[in-house]
Amino acid sequence: MYLTVHATIGVLIGEHVAHPIASFVLGAISHFLTDMIPHGDYVRLGLSEERHVRTFTMKLIAALDAALMVGALWLLAPPPVLTPSVTAALIGSVAPDFLWGFHELTRWRFLQPYRKFHTWFHPHPKKDVPFWFGTLYQFILVSLIIFLRF
Ligand SMILES: [Zn+2]
Repeated sequence: MYLTVHATIGVLIGEHVAHPIASFVLGAISHFLTDMIPHGDYVRLGLSEERHVRTFTMKLIAALDAALMVGALWLLAPPPVLTPSVTAALIGSVAPDFLWGFHELTRWRFLQPYRKFHTWFHPHPKKDVPFWFGTLYQFILVSLIIFLRF
């Protein structure tokens, strides 16, 4: 699932949960639950065990996704809206992918169990949707959330 989607949902959680620690935990839980929805990034984001599928493209898409996430956050939660709870939920909702990405870049053995845990939440490649479909419905979901919020 794109960081943009996780962050958008994190903002919504943070706006409705007053305690920062609770909103952080709920943000992280929302991350793993939304990752369970087939979203077409099994191979694209290097979740495959085959190393040759991890390419420069993965890093490029992650960078574009992070840029889109910042844009969506600017629309959803400009600085005055970034309360401690919203910030905590936001961090909780995107941290699991940053931790996963850190493992992908460093191959740090200490994070290998976490990588397996994170990957477990993703649908099996044979049950995943095509990349274009996953990207399209995630774009529609974020647009809908931003539209409904205003
Ligand atoms: Zn994830």
